[in-house]
Amino acid sequence: MVLPPATDSPALETLRRVFGYETFRDGQAEIIEHVVAGGDALVLMPTGGGKSLCYQIPALVRRGTGVVISPLIALMQDQVDALRAVGVRAGFLNSAQDADDRRMTEAELLAGELDLLYLAPERLRVPATVDLLGRIDIALFAIDEAHCVAQWGHDFRPDYLMLSELHARWPDIPRIALTATATEATRAEIATRLGLEDARKFVASFDRPNIQYRIEPKTDAKRQLLRFLREEHAGDAGIVYCLSRSSVEKHAAFLTENGIEAVPYHAGLDPHVRAANQARFLREDGLVVVATIAFGMGIDKPDVRFVAHLDLPKSVEGYYQETGRAGRDGLPSTAWLAYGLNDVVNLRKMIDSSEGDAEHRRRLSRHLDAMLALCETVECRRTQLLNYFGQSGAACGNCDTCLSPPETWDGTVAAQKVLSTIVRLDRERRQKFGAGHIIDILLGKKNAKVEQFGHDELSVFGIGTELRDTEWRAVVRQLLAQGLVAVESMYGSLILTDASAEVLRGARKVPMRREPERTKPAKAKSAS
Ligand code: ADP
Ligand code: ZN
Repeated sequence: MVLPPATDSPALETLRRVFGYETFRDGQAEIIEHVVAGGDALVLMPTGGGKSLCYQIPALVRRGTGVVISPLIALMQDQVDALRAVGVRAGFLNSAQDADDRRMTEAELLAGELDLLYLAPERLRVPATVDLLGRIDIALFAIDEAHCVAQWGHDFRPDYLMLSELHARWPDIPRIALTATATEATRAEIATRLGLEDARKFVASFDRPNIQYRIEPKTDAKRQLLRFLREEHAGDAGIVYCLSRSSVEKHAAFLTENGIEAVPYHAGLDPHVRAANQARFLREDGLVVVATIAFGMGIDKPDVRFVAHLDLPKSVEGYYQETGRAGRDGLPSTAWLAYGLNDVVNLRKMIDSSEGDAEHRRRLSRHLDAMLALCETVECRRTQLLNYFGQSGAACGNCDTCLSPPETWDGTVAAQKVLSTIVRLDRERRQKFGAGHIIDILLGKKNAKVEQFGHDELSVFGIGTELRDTEWRAVVRQLLAQGLVAVESMYGSLILTDASAEVLRGARKVPMRREPERTKPAKAKSAS
C-alpha cells in the first residue's frame, strides 16, 4: 500500500482513508481546516454541495465527539448506518427511538466510543441530555439545517432557539452552522440567534448550471405533465411535486394508467408503503415519484433527471431546495413548474387561514410574493434565483426565458400610474394600503375604504380603467418582481423603492410579461 505523502493534512488523509474520495470539493478544504483549528463557521452551500463532510471530518480529526443537531429525525438512522458502514463510530438520540436504543447510545457516548452523535433539537429540552453532554469530550457542535433557527425563514423550528444555550454552556467548543437555503436576511438572523456574528462565513455559489429552469402557465396540468415526461424525459427518474395528498394519489395513478412507472409518496401513506416506495426510487432506474414536499429531505440520488412541480411552491427557498434534488451528478436535468392563477388564490387562502399571528402571515405572504416574482419575470430565471440568494449572475442561456424570451408589452405607463398612486398615499403611511386598495383607486371603485380616506378625490382615482383587476394585479406583481415597488414590513403597504423615481421621471422603461390569460394557452414548445 502506498502511503500518502507526509504533507497531507489530517483532513485530506481522513477524506481518503475513511470516505474514499480523492479530493475536496470547492470550499470544503477551507471550511474543514478552519473548524479543525477550532474556529466557528457559518456555511451556505447548495443541496448536494457536500456539507456533511464539513463537520464529519473535523469531528474525526478533533478529539472527542462531534455533536450534530439535525431536525431530520427520519434520516438519522440512515445517516448513522452510512457512517458506520465506512467505519465511523456514530449514533443518534431522538424521540422516535426506543429506550434500549437510547440507553445503548448513551453508554457508548459516555465510554468515549462515538465520533459523531446526531441529536434531534427537541432532546435539548430534556435536562438529562444536557447533563450527558456535560460528561463527555465534545469535539464540535454542528448545526445542520441552520435556517430552522430563523423565524423569518420558511422552516422555523422553535427548538432551535435552545441552541444558544449550548453555546452559553460550552463557549469554547467550535460551532459550525450549515444550511442550503438562506437569503441575506435569514443569514443575518442565523448569525444573531446563534451568536455566530464573529464566525467565518463561507458562501458557496448557488448556481446549478446543469439544471434547466422552466416555468409555464398551467392550462391542463395532466396533459402538460404527460407531454413533458414523454417528450423530454421518457424512462428517466424524477420527482413530481404536488401540494396535497389527494393530488399526489391522483397524479400517480394517472401516470401509471398512461404507461409511466410512478409511485406515490406522502405522509399519509402507510409507513411500510412509503418506505418501500422511497427504497424503489433510490434503487431502480427510471422510476417517477409523485410526492408532497414530505419527500426528498436528504434524498441522495445522483441521477434524478427532472423535478416537476404541479403546484406553486410556497417560497423560493422551497423551490430551490426541491429543484436542487435534480442533477446532483452534474448531468443535464430539468426543473419544470406549471402554475396557474388558482395556485395563487389557494395559497393566499391557506396563508389567510393559517395559524399564527399577523406577522407570521405577512411573512408567508412575502415568501409567496417572491415566488410569484420568479414566475413572472421576463428576465433570466437563474439570475433571479441567484439574486434572491444575494448572488449575481449573467443571463444563463439555460432557462425558458433565456431560450425563448417571453412576449412582453410596454408597461411603463401602467407602472407610472401605480407608482403615482403610491406617492399620493405616502402621507398616510401608517395605514395599510396594499395592492388591492391601490387597484381599487386606479379602477375608480368607490368602496368603504376608498371613501373613508377620501381617496375618490385623488387625481389618480379612476385613471386605470384600461386594464382589468387581474391585469393590474399582474402589473403590481411584476413591479414587485422588478424591485420597482416594495412591501413595507410593518403594515404591508406598497412603498416606493430607490428605482421607482426613474420610472416616474420617464427615464426607465418597464417591460412586462404578457398575462397568460390573454395569450392563447398551451403554446406548445417543441422539445429541444
Ligand atoms: P449536502 O448535505 O450539502 O446536501 P452531502 O453532504 O449529502 O450534501 O453530499 C452530497 C454528496 O456528495 C454525497 O453523496 C457525498 O458523499 C458526496 N461528496 C461530498 N464531498 C465529496 C468529495 N469531496 N468528493 C466526492 N464526493 C463528495
Ligand atoms: Zn437564463
